[in-house]
Amino acid sequence: MKKIVAILALLVSIAGISQQKPKLIVGIVVDQMKMEYLYRYESDFSDNGFKRLMGNGYTFHNMHYNYAPTFTGPGHAAIYTGATPSINGIVANEWFHRTLKKEIYCTGDESVKTLGDGSDKEGMMSPKLLQTTTITDELRLATNFKGKVIGMSLKDRGAILPAGHFANWAFWMSKKGAFISSTFYGTALPNWVTDFNNEKRYLPYLEKGWKLSNPAEVYKESLPDENPYEGTMYKKKPFFPYDTKAMMESNDPAVIRLSPFGNNLLADFAMTAIEKESLGTDDITDFLTVSFSSPDYIGHTFGSRSIEMQDTYLRLDQTIAELLTYLDTNVGKNNYLLFLTSDHAAAENVNHLKDNKYEVDHISSKNIEQAFSEFSKTTFGEDLVLNVSNFNIFFNKEVIKAKNLELNKVKESFRTFMYTQKYIKRVYSEEEILASTGSDFYLNFVAKGFDPVQSGDLLFTLKPGFVEYMGVGTTHGSPYTFDTHVPCIFYGWNIPKGESHDRKEITQIAPTLAQKIKIQFPNGTEAKVMTEVFDQK
Ligand code: ZN
Ligand code: ZN
Ligand code: ZN
Repeated sequence: MKKIVAILALLVSIAGISQQKPKLIVGIVVDQMKMEYLYRYESDFSDNGFKRLMGNGYTFHNMHYNYAPTFTGPGHAAIYTGATPSINGIVANEWFHRTLKKEIYCTGDESVKTLGDGSDKEGMMSPKLLQTTTITDELRLATNFKGKVIGMSLKDRGAILPAGHFANWAFWMSKKGAFISSTFYGTALPNWVTDFNNEKRYLPYLEKGWKLSNPAEVYKESLPDENPYEGTMYKKKPFFPYDTKAMMESNDPAVIRLSPFGNNLLADFAMTAIEKESLGTDDITDFLTVSFSSPDYIGHTFGSRSIEMQDTYLRLDQTIAELLTYLDTNVGKNNYLLFLTSDHAAAENVNHLKDNKYEVDHISSKNIEQAFSEFSKTTFGEDLVLNVSNFNIFFNKEVIKAKNLELNKVKESFRTFMYTQKYIKRVYSEEEILASTGSDFYLNFVAKGFDPVQSGDLLFTLKPGFVEYMGVGTTHGSPYTFDTHVPCIFYGWNIPKGESHDRKEITQIAPTLAQKIKIQFPNGTEAKVMTEVFDQK
C-alpha cells in the first residue's frame, strides 16, 4: 500500500498535476506600474519575464482602483485586504488626526522599536492602523500559524501592510541600505538578514553605475533622454549615464531606491528569504509579499514617458525572469501561485500636456491650503481651516463654535469659493459622501476612500489632467483611469491560461486568492471573486 501511494505521488509530481494547495504564494506589487507599460514596452521585453507571465498565466487587462486617493499605503492595503480605505482604515500614506492635531503615518507605531541598522524612527512601524485582516492574515489563521508569511519592500508601508497583523516578518530598507524590521515582529533580526546586510549587496550594483541596458534605438517609445519634464536625481542632470557610486558616496546607500538596482537588491533579498526561511518546502502554504518600490521613485523623478522609466521596466523584466527561474528550481513549476499588480498607476506630466495645447496645470498642496486660508480670513475674519491634505479639508470646529458660526454654512461658502478655482472638479461634504447612493461615478470613489473618523469635512477632486505636484516627473492620487488602471496577472499553480477585458476592481484580488486556496475571506472584503482564474467546468 505504502509503495502504491509513493508511486502515485511520484506520478503526480512527474505529470505536474498540482497538489491541493500551492506550496508558496508570491504576491508582487510593482509600485507605480501603469498597465500601459506592459503594452508600450512589450516588443522590448524578453520571453522570460512579463511576457512569460502574460503568455502562460491569466491577464486582467482592465483592472482598476475603485476609490481615491490612489496612494501607496491605501493601494497595498486594498490589494491584500480586498477592501477599500473606508473599511480598512488606511485612508492615505499619512493623514491628519483630529484629536492629536497632527499628521499620522499609515504604519507608524511609537510603541515599537527598530530592529537592525536603522534610525530609531525608521523602525517605529507596525500594521496597527490597519483595521481589517489581509489575505496573508487569513492564511496564518487557516494554517494555525504554520504557514509562514513574510513581507518585504524598500518602503516600510510596502512591506508591512501586505504582510498583515500576523506576519512572521516584514522587512524594509533603512537609509543605510540595510533591511530592517521592528520589535512588533520579534526581538532580533533573523541571522540571515544580518548576514545579508553585512554583505553590503548594494555595493556591486551602485559601483556599476546606471547606464542604458539596451542600444539607444530601443527606447523609441519614450521621450528623448534630456527633456524639460524630468526632475534631477541627486542634483544630477536627467540624462544617462548616472554615476550611482558617486551619488552613494556623497549621500548614502539608499540612493539605490532611485535606480533600477533597488529592484535587483530586493529580488536578491527575496530569493535569500525563500532559501533561509524554507518557504514553499512543505505542503502548508507560505506567502511571500514583494513590493518593488524603485519604479515609483523613478517615476516621480523622471515621469512616465522618460527613457529612465523604460529602462527601469526593461531591467525589471529581467529581474522578474530571474525570480521565476529561481521559483521553478527551488519551489517547483506547479507549486507556486504568483500574482503581479500595482498599488496605483501615474499621471501624465502636466507641462508635457500643456506644451501640446491641453490647458491643464499643476498645483501644489501649499498653494491650495493658502488659497483656502486666505478665503477664510477675508470671509470669516479668521482662518477656519485646520488642515488640507490628501484632498481633504479639516475645519477648526472649536473656533467655528466660538464664533457662533454654523459648520454647514461655512462648508457651503467654501464650496462656492472652491468652484471658482480652475483646478477643482467636485467638492463633497461628509454628509453627501455618507449618503451616496452610487449614481455619481466619482462620488463612489471618494466614498470608498472615506472614513468618518479619519477623513475631513469637505473632500475635493481635481479636474482630470490637473495634478497636485511640481511640474517635473509625475505623481498619482486621483480617481481617474491614468491613476487607477494597473496590471493584474495570475500565474502558476492551478491558474488557467487566458485574458479578460472586463472591468475588474483591485479589491477582487484578495477574495479571489482566498477562494482559490479555499480559506476564509479577509474580514472587510465584499468577496467579489474573479471566477476567470478557476477551471471552467
Ligand atoms: Zn506607490
Ligand atoms: Zn532623462
Ligand atoms: Zn508614488
